[in-house]
Amino acid sequence: MLSFWETDSFYSPVDIAIIGGGLMGLWTALELKKQSPNISITIVERSTTPLGASTRNAGFACFGSLTELLSDESSMGTNAMLEIVEMRYKGIEKIKSHFSVEQIDLDECGGYEALYNMDWANQLNDRIAYINQLLTPIIGNHDCFSNATKRIKSIGLKKFDHLIFNPLEAGIHSGKLVSALTDLVKEKGIRILNGMEIISWENLNDKVILSTKSNQTITANQVLFCTNGFTNELLPELKIAPARGQIILTAPINGLLTKGTFHFDEGFYYWRNIGNRILLGGARNSDFTNEATTSFEGSDLIRNTLLDFLQNHLETSAPITIEQSWSGIMGFTKNKLPLFERVENNISAAIACNGMGVALTPIFAEKVAYQLLH
Ligand SMILES: Cc1cc2nc3c(=O)[nH]c(=O)nc-3n(C[C@H](O)[C@H](O)[C@H](O)COP(=O)(O)OP(=O)(O)OC[C@H]3O[C@@H](n4cnc5c(N)ncnc54)[C@H](O)[C@@H]3O)c2cc1C
Repeated sequence: MLSFWETDSFYSPVDIAIIGGGLMGLWTALELKKQSPNISITIVERSTTPLGASTRNAGFACFGSLTELLSDESSMGTNAMLEIVEMRYKGIEKIKSHFSVEQIDLDECGGYEALYNMDWANQLNDRIAYINQLLTPIIGNHDCFSNATKRIKSIGLKKFDHLIFNPLEAGIHSGKLVSALTDLVKEKGIRILNGMEIISWENLNDKVILSTKSNQTITANQVLFCTNGFTNELLPELKIAPARGQIILTAPINGLLTKGTFHFDEGFYYWRNIGNRILLGGARNSDFTNEATTSFEGSDLIRNTLLDFLQNHLETSAPITIEQSWSGIMGFTKNKLPLFERVENNISAAIACNGMGVALTPIFAEKVAYQLLH
């Protein structure tokens, strides 16, 4: 049983309870406080530190590769594709305006997309020009994408046919970003309760009572689920598809030439340097069925596919060894668009990110906060 002191402090009723302390929950809390300074907010996070995607991703502050934008344009239409790009572009700018380079190890290294020969290879420059022209109103009058095929060898890559450069992509330190954002959220007077897993709730219309696995309750006027890939456990009707992303990190590589962030195969492979190591993630498309899971236990199949990929495409003088590997869990909406849904009158969910939440969450959070407050 809680003491009076506890019920009157840590567990006191709040205006809004946010479930999930990853990037989505943290940015939304910050925005709510900005848009309504007197509001009281508690973030309830089931792990000691957030455990989903935000601290286990690849740390790309990216707004999309050329083929990703072309493919998004054909699946969702030009306007929706541009809307997402704009959110991602502004999201990166917002991160930079909140944190110093040192706080989050921001590396404005630029990013590349590597390609094999494809049926439209002879139109590559035309497509680059086409997307650049579409992006001009968002990023200003300078080219976003350029053909960098000549750099394949000098950047330490092999067995690719084309390379496209985008100077606006950057790398960040995902752990430091979440840590700095958490500090900022706490500074604004937002409470964070770690180690509390929400397992059920009772909606009494004027308030919601959340119950935790450890038999505590938290009362809020409104509840927002920011549970991303784990949303099905609590709100199966939203049909958020979990997708595991696995990552390997090499030991330091002497004379590493490969610097920047990289995408290949519509983003199914992504790698970057961290100093003189390479972080490589992806290969989910080699085992879609088993990667549609919330289990953090990675598989040898994916790890070996990733290692083969590195050995095949990275020019190194010594054998590559893997020092660390881990998994994170993403959440996918049906149409790849961020989802804000009012599930009941005072219960909502914000599922942003379809594997691109670093750049998307800061701006999507503004829209989510506005919807919750109006
Ligand atoms: C391997 C990998 C690589 C990625 N690379 C990139 C990248 O380079 N660039 C990019 O932009 N995006 C990337 N992403 C995607 C990005 O990390 C996500 O879009 C973003 O972190 C989502 O944030 P979130 O807060 O919605 O989810 P999460 O970070 O998953 O947070 C959800 C939180 O909810 C908590 N939770 C769940 N259930 C409960 C419950 N019942 N009670 C209390 N708490 C609960 C979890 O513990 C978790 O901390 C990657 C993702 C993965 C997995």
